[in-house]
Amino acid sequence: MERKKRAVIAGGGWAGCAAAVSAVKCGLEAVLLERTDMLLGTGLVGGIMRNNGRFAAQEECSALGGGELFRITDECARHRNVDFPGHRHATLYDIALTPAAVSRYLEELGIRVEYQSRVEKAEVSDGAVRSVKDGAGRVFDGDVFVDATGSAGPQGNCRSYGNGCAMCVLRCPSFGGRISLTALAGVSEIQGKNASGGTGAMSGACKLLKESLAPSLVERLERTGVAVVPLPEELVEDHLAKKACQQYALPEYRKNLILLDTGHAKLMTPYFNLQKLRRVPGFENARYADPYAGGRGNSVRFLAMAPRGDSLLVRGTKNLFCAGEKAGLLVGHTEAIVTGTLAGYNAARLAGGNEPLTLPRQLACGEAIAFVREQMKTPRGLSMKYTFSGSVLYERLEQLGLECADPERIRARVERLGLTGALRPLGT
Ligand SMILES: Cc1cc2nc3c(=O)[nH]c(=O)nc-3n(C[C@H](O)[C@H](O)[C@H](O)COP(=O)(O)OP(=O)(O)OC[C@H]3O[C@@H](n4cnc5c(N)ncnc54)[C@H](O)[C@@H]3O)c2cc1C
Repeated sequence: MERKKRAVIAGGGWAGCAAAVSAVKCGLEAVLLERTDMLLGTGLVGGIMRNNGRFAAQEECSALGGGELFRITDECARHRNVDFPGHRHATLYDIALTPAAVSRYLEELGIRVEYQSRVEKAEVSDGAVRSVKDGAGRVFDGDVFVDATGSAGPQGNCRSYGNGCAMCVLRCPSFGGRISLTALAGVSEIQGKNASGGTGAMSGACKLLKESLAPSLVERLERTGVAVVPLPEELVEDHLAKKACQQYALPEYRKNLILLDTGHAKLMTPYFNLQKLRRVPGFENARYADPYAGGRGNSVRFLAMAPRGDSLLVRGTKNLFCAGEKAGLLVGHTEAIVTGTLAGYNAARLAGGNEPLTLPRQLACGEAIAFVREQMKTPRGLSMKYTFSGSVLYERLEQLGLECADPERIRARVERLGLTGALRPLGT
């Protein structure tokens, strides 16, 4: 019997998990290599889904046949249909329950997940990646590869472009920093800029221990999912220009402390001086849960993105796809799942001798992938961030009439294009 073709995926964040699910559903064997001991990467401390245009993107991706991980984030929701400044109808997944739920699902699908397996070398010949080697010297051969190693860290980058290692959930000191498979394959990568002209961008949220906040604040947060606490003028800190998440770079996020309930109390600012924070009523005992040094800084991201086409094939390679933040200045779990799903599907197409698929620009997902690639050609475009939930990409989707929060209309537009279930197993 002919052996199944194998996809090897580097990085077990949302993008890598989605690529593995998609590849296996389309008939490949999938090996997912993750350098830490948990899946979801930066998604371990995230949680916001379905806000603004992410609703349409999630519904579109599900109609295309790639909805499995969205089903899990919906099932693990602590709050649904939450509005907070600049954002509507968000779902907040529980950061404690979601990672293990995803691990179990990947296991059910028969995906081989190797933890504490950091890809450190790649064997490349004739423009194709043949195998990768992890830090323990294990070699993983594959027919197709996906780089989903993200763009956060390693520590040197947080030192050079941020305020030093903030001790975030990626835990570089314990597991070693991020290493890009694209770079190992000999492809030179693209660096993003921030709005102040500096390199990279700082992650835009921290988590506080709920137990350290006033009970009345916790009660409000748990009842409604959100708490907006006005800041006395003398305590206002302005970090908005450095933020990776431009959808939250709004005046409300400067003048208020905005908290969301994802299990911890998610504080929507990259960092905030702890002594100042403890002067705000309700925050007298505040303590950071992530990053531990959230009073000083946060992780720096968008320092290593792959040049790629709209099928997500990395330019200059024959069989390496990219997804998530590796695929461009795309911020968000939804963005990572959408690109991961396409990368895994296209890996399967290529392994089966078919041309990879490009999503049409009549879909929010197709438009996002093409628009980001185009924008990243200009210095201004390189200083922006792109997300379905705000800023330039969201505005564009609104202008193009692609923003919509009606699942039926979204399913109908996928159907009109003849793409319902298109990302399901080939030939079915
Ligand atoms: C603090 C914070 C809060 C956020 N909150 C939200 C939110 O609420 N909602 C939202 O939509 N977005 C949020 N984001 C953004 C979102 O998390 C990311 O844009 C998205 O999840 C990126 O996914 P990814 O898979 O591309 O990368 P990552 O999440 O960075 O995952 C990459 C993975 O690759 C692994 N890796 C790296 N190098 C190697 C290697 N050589 N070998 C093996 N494994 C490797 C890493 O350990 C990691 O697990 C947040 C980001 C941060 C940092």
